[in-house]
Amino acid sequence: MNSLMKDKNIVVMGVANNRSIAWGITKSLHNAGANLIFTNRQERSKQKLEKMLAENDIEAKAIVSCDVSDDDSIVKAFQEIGEKVGTIHGLVHSVAFANRDELKGEYADTSREGYLLAQDISAYSLVAVTREAKKLMTEGGGIVTQTYLGAERVVPNYNVMGVAKAALEASVRYLAEDVGKYGIRVNAVSAGPIRTLSAKGVSGFNEKMSVIEEKAPLRRQIDQDQVGDATLFLLSEMARGVTGEVLHVDSGFHIVA
Ligand code: NDP
Repeated sequence: MNSLMKDKNIVVMGVANNRSIAWGITKSLHNAGANLIFTNRQERSKQKLEKMLAENDIEAKAIVSCDVSDDDSIVKAFQEIGEKVGTIHGLVHSVAFANRDELKGEYADTSREGYLLAQDISAYSLVAVTREAKKLMTEGGGIVTQTYLGAERVVPNYNVMGVAKAALEASVRYLAEDVGKYGIRVNAVSAGPIRTLSAKGVSGFNEKMSVIEEKAPLRRQIDQDQVGDATLFLLSEMARGVTGEVLHVDSGFHIVA
């Protein structure tokens, strides 16, 4: 336990189950003394979250429904958060979606519909939630999203999601410029492959994991807790000079040729 985030109200979006990256982030934030507010899309995810919070003795200040594909849902969610906790000091965006059949084969076969869907949920959602969150971030703070190496390089099968992550990383930079004047920082963590519900949708995922153990400088897998601690750092005062950045938490894999 430390007090890095004591009295800070942080919104966490994207806990689906105990494998979710957002759950690793939740544990890191809780250990640093943060007050936690959650958003879920599916009722099933909310029920799982409530059970996990109870089992881990973590109190939620609020759990709010939010579908990031729907502007009204986002506006309502942040209004409800404002009514329940007032000011917030941070936001974790750990949300993405693409059709499973577009996460294999050739990128050139991506449908217009599938392309727009991936962009909508995985990239535009950061823009929309930043717009609403900043209204509650009256004391400044940090926003952190989750990205992947497929934004920078061609990773087989990652396809449409790689292009969505490229848009997400560019959005991090543009948003950082917009909200920097309000004392709000926007950063991304680029995690190596971690076995989660979403990761199951990407073809050949096991190979992406095994290559980390073979080739990454640290020669070991990445887990949710490592991403949690890096996200905590970016949200905290320790990173007060850092914005518009993409921090790789991938055992160093991105530096290897
Ligand atoms: P999870 O499946 O655990 O989490 C994905 C989350 O996205 C779920 O909580 C889901 O909510 C949410 N979501 C999807 N669509 C919507 C929507 N329309 N509105 C609101 N929420 C939505 O997978 P991960 O933890 O792996 O994914 C979290 C983030 O980390 C993603 O951005 C992913 O791309 C990124 N990432 C993952 C890596 C990995 O290897 N796993 C590597 C690098 C980055 P619900 O359950 O309620 O539908």
